[in-house]
Amino acid sequence: MGIATVNPTTGELIKEFDALTDTELDAKVGLASSQFSDYCRTPMPQRSRWLHQAATHLEQAKQQYAELLTLEMGKPIKAAIAEVEKCALVCRYYADHAPSFLVDVPVHTDASTSFIRYQPLGVILAVMPWNFPFWQVFRFAAPALMAGNVGLLKHASNVPQSALAIAEVFAKAGFPAGAFQTLLIGADRVAGLMGDERIAAATLTGSEPAGASLAMAAGKHIKKVVLELGGSDPFIVMPSADLDAAVSTAVTARMLNNGQSCIAAKRFIVADAIADEFTRRLIERYKALKIGDPMQPDTDIGPLATPQILQDLDRQVKTSIEQGATLLIGGDPRSTSSTLSEAHRSGNFYPPTVLSDIPKGSLAEYDEFFGPVALLFRVADISAAIARANDSPFGLGSSAWTQDAQERDRFIAELDAGSVFINGMVKSDPRLPFGGIKRSGYGRELGKEGLYEFVNVKTVWVK
Ligand code: NDP
Repeated sequence: MGIATVNPTTGELIKEFDALTDTELDAKVGLASSQFSDYCRTPMPQRSRWLHQAATHLEQAKQQYAELLTLEMGKPIKAAIAEVEKCALVCRYYADHAPSFLVDVPVHTDASTSFIRYQPLGVILAVMPWNFPFWQVFRFAAPALMAGNVGLLKHASNVPQSALAIAEVFAKAGFPAGAFQTLLIGADRVAGLMGDERIAAATLTGSEPAGASLAMAAGKHIKKVVLELGGSDPFIVMPSADLDAAVSTAVTARMLNNGQSCIAAKRFIVADAIADEFTRRLIERYKALKIGDPMQPDTDIGPLATPQILQDLDRQVKTSIEQGATLLIGGDPRSTSSTLSEAHRSGNFYPPTVLSDIPKGSLAEYDEFFGPVALLFRVADISAAIARANDSPFGLGSSAWTQDAQERDRFIAELDAGSVFINGMVKSDPRLPFGGIKRSGYGRELGKEGLYEFVNVKTVWVK
């Protein structure tokens, strides 16, 4: 399948798109490049106004955009509406705060005047995934546009209408032509673009192979790149935790977006003393979730985004069971069909699944499971919990539940991850930096640190 909308709820092909020809692509890159020289000089208040207008437009059209997200990748409509609202929030946050983050910073040295000035880099290429089709893009675009950069979006091939809608939001908000454009192209065109001297830098959210491929191309041409890749985030529960709150958050943290989030809690690491109770309650809550048509407001879990994601997850679960893991619930995509209407039986539905007794060295210990599958690990104490959590190739987020101040301090100090959330679910927030370590990628999005990824931090020294 090329660039197309295929409804994951029914398997129906809705709309196909031709990829840009080389000439069309060249014209778009050229427009971005020529716009940059004007756009980088627009006064900051003007950029803020445009971004506020983008937020207003998102708020006004949120139902329409949310339906598009649900149609293209299957997230429940209530989550899709929340996603569009969060995009408006990130636009407003940077419209209000970026100007103060970007003012000159004086530094006292042997010069008569010395300071730091933040200047835009140029055309930034954003390679984005389908799981949060709007949010992943807006969290890059809002700070990048405020900093004076212009954006080119190569979105995932299964969300082309979302990709076009995002460019429409910026155009309707008043940003000049070329400040933000969507490129309908396949992944095979990305490495070539990194060699184009009109493109200054890139950001990618997605899988490890995609990230490695982009980083190789960027390295060859000495270009800055930010990578936000996968994760297998730990969710640690200690005996002192508020179990009601931990269980309830464990459901959301694993099942949000039909389980397809890089920062979803994937490995539940639970102290022996409460493991039976935690597991019993978790299973009870998973069983109560409503699977079905994501357009219905009371649906909790819709289909996975593509047949490939479904096949990959099914294989991972089956292999884990063959390797010795115990299946507590779910595990069979066919089991969903009795609860689905006829029209939805060809959708990519996968049931909430829990695996426990995961053997050492098995796939479930180290792989990312991108769907509604919880992996349970029992540990004796906090040292074992931290060791278990850190024994992962990934290091994106981590969540730990405890009422004990010493335990809290150890989690903050010792968990190897880009973020540690105590008694809360890992989430991205426009005010806080977001990103990972190890194979989860490098660089940061959001916060001041995210804004500074795509600027020239210029040192100015005057005798
Ligand atoms: P991909 O990483 O393949 O897709 C993400 C984006 O990267 C898409 O725009 C894709 O384009 C592009 N891309 C793919 N290959 C390359 C490449 N070699 N060079 C440049 N760009 C590339 O994710 P998948 O959709 O295949 O999902 C597979 C797995 O990736 C998931 O199971 C999950 O583990 C992980 N993933 C992680 C996400 C996260 O939020 N960190 C989000 C999505 C996936 P195109 O669609 O045209 O191939």
